[in-house]
Order: sequence, then structure tokens, then C-alpha cells
Amino acid sequence: MNYCFAAERTLGKLVKWLRLLGFDTIFESESSSDTFLEGLQPEQILLTRTQSIHEQYGSQRHVFIESNDPRDQLKQVIHELGIVFQDIRPFSRCLRCNVEITEIEKNAVFGKVPDYIWETNDIFQTCPACQRIYWPGSHTQQSMKRLDELFG
Ligand SMILES: [Zn+2]
Repeated sequence: MNYCFAAERTLGKLVKWLRLLGFDTIFESESSSDTFLEGLQPEQILLTRTQSIHEQYGSQRHVFIESNDPRDQLKQVIHELGIVFQDIRPFSRCLRCNVEITEIEKNAVFGKVPDYIWETNDIFQTCPACQRIYWPGSHTQQSMKRLDELFG
């Protein structure tokens, strides 16, 4: 299943994690409009920590985030929505821009990444928005481990 999210401004770390899993996640703090809530699309699942919004949304699809800990926040979202491993596309999206990253030729990144990275990797991807370059090793061991814990 395809999920996309809209996260309130206090949920920055959760936003990064959802993008790391490949989910389209807009973030209130990156939005220039004052009407973040009004501008939400029907398919966007609101993630909120605000009790009044939680009540106002009632049975409308949203997740009322309970924990302060981003790890527990992510667990809650996964659990409440029933997200399974087949739903995620880890490392397919720029964590900063929320844009899908695309493959780029190895030769094109020469000089743009440290030499030892260029020599030891064959697959590189880039963000069309910010031009940041990603490679398999650029994802920390820690995030791989977290994925294991979450999805087994
Ligand atoms: Zn980017």
C-alpha cells in the first residue's frame, strides 16, 4: 500500500525517518503557507501531537503521536497503520527535499564525493532538487539496524 504523510512542526525527526523509508512526507516547518492544515490533500495522513487537532479530526484519518521519542513515534505510525515491509522503499527519497532520488552515472560524480567513496562504490544516486549525492554506504549502519528492528 502507498502511504503519504503530512507532519506537524514538532515532528522533524519522524519526518526524516518516514522519508528514509521512502514515504512522501511533507513537513509543516518546510511549508511556507500559514494554512498547512487547510492545504492537506485527502491522501495525506496527518501526523499530529496537538490534542485539539486530534479531537477536531475525529474519525478522519490521522495519527495522534503520543511519544516524545522519534523511535517510538515511528513504531506507533507503523503499528497503527499496519505498514509492512512490502510497503516501504528504503533509501529511495532525499531526506532533505522529500523528492525521489534517481540513479546517476558513476563518472558523473567523480570529484563530487570523497575519492575513497568513489573507488569503493559503483552505484550512486542524486536528488534532482538539491543535487546531493547518495550511495549505499551513505546510509548509516544505525539506520539499517533500525530497519531490521522494525520489520524483522
Ligand atoms: Zn534533496
